[in-house]
Amino acid sequence: MRRISVLLAAVALIAGTLVGPLGAAPAFAQGEVNVYSGRQEVLIRPQLTAFTKATGIRVNLITASEDALIQRMRAEGRNSPADVMLTVDVARLIRATEFGLLRPIKSEVLESAIPSQYRDKDGRWYGLGLRARIAYYNPDKVNPAELSTYEALADPKWKGRICMRTSSATYNQSLLASLIEHKGAAAAEAWARGIVANMARPPTGGDREQITGVAAGECDIGVANSYYYVQMEQAGTDAEKTATAKVKAFFPQQPGGGTHVNISGAGVATNAPNPANAQKLIEFLASAEAQKIYAEVVFEYPVRPGVAVAPVLLAIGMLNPDKLELSRLAAHQAETIRIFDRVGWR
Ligand code: FE
Repeated sequence: MRRISVLLAAVALIAGTLVGPLGAAPAFAQGEVNVYSGRQEVLIRPQLTAFTKATGIRVNLITASEDALIQRMRAEGRNSPADVMLTVDVARLIRATEFGLLRPIKSEVLESAIPSQYRDKDGRWYGLGLRARIAYYNPDKVNPAELSTYEALADPKWKGRICMRTSSATYNQSLLASLIEHKGAAAAEAWARGIVANMARPPTGGDREQITGVAAGECDIGVANSYYYVQMEQAGTDAEKTATAKVKAFFPQQPGGGTHVNISGAGVATNAPNPANAQKLIEFLASAEAQKIYAEVVFEYPVRPGVAVAPVLLAIGMLNPDKLELSRLAAHQAETIRIFDRVGWR
């Protein structure tokens, strides 16, 4: 197996040298792949190590904020060493395609592994893990029977009771973009205005702070991604573990049913010096072996059907994902920023 991989790498080396851009790729670089990642190293290293073990291809990992990586790829241009871009939000993948940083790839492996709503129609990005943006509530203050949709969180009955992150969080931008897609811009703006009116405090902190805010009694309901709760519960500080014991999760519904999901995902860089290895890596990340790691290490919902959800994640509730094509969110990115501005969601 290993011998075949080495042989394939050798063939890729020769092919890559012949067809690669003039002078771009040093010949020795073909046995490796360069990854620009917005994901914390500890959450992606296990998958990359498994890839190297399976293929013999070395992975060079650069980790930084996704905006910084996009800036860097734009500045590096044709000389960029980046082969694969890994992000934790579809909005950033869409932004990268708008800057022309990702190339279309055609892969039967990826098309059969990843449901079509979680990948770009043109093959410029592929979802590898699912995260649900859900509500966390204080069971002493909120009866779960009172909870239903995202829209219902904008009802005046929740005035002064909701914790939210800032609008600069791309997770919130993607949620608002999904509401625009479902209900139109006017209804989405009315929702955002209602949420601002219901905030218990000005938006602050990351997703974890929305959960700890509920636990500390700052608010009765907070909105955060699914995996944060499980990470805090399983591997958090003592304070985080205590906080998770005080809150419960609820999966709000979109119009027409289903909870808003976002993806972590990847694409092959337009100027990738090792495009064959880049594609091989993304195909590996969609394999049953790697998807199991996504479930067990990162607590994401596997994007590949048939791979088990982590029991600790299942324990917080059952996800019925919104069926929306995530590529549809691309059209609403600019509108989300204007709406957040107009309603004063800072
Ligand atoms: Fe996150």
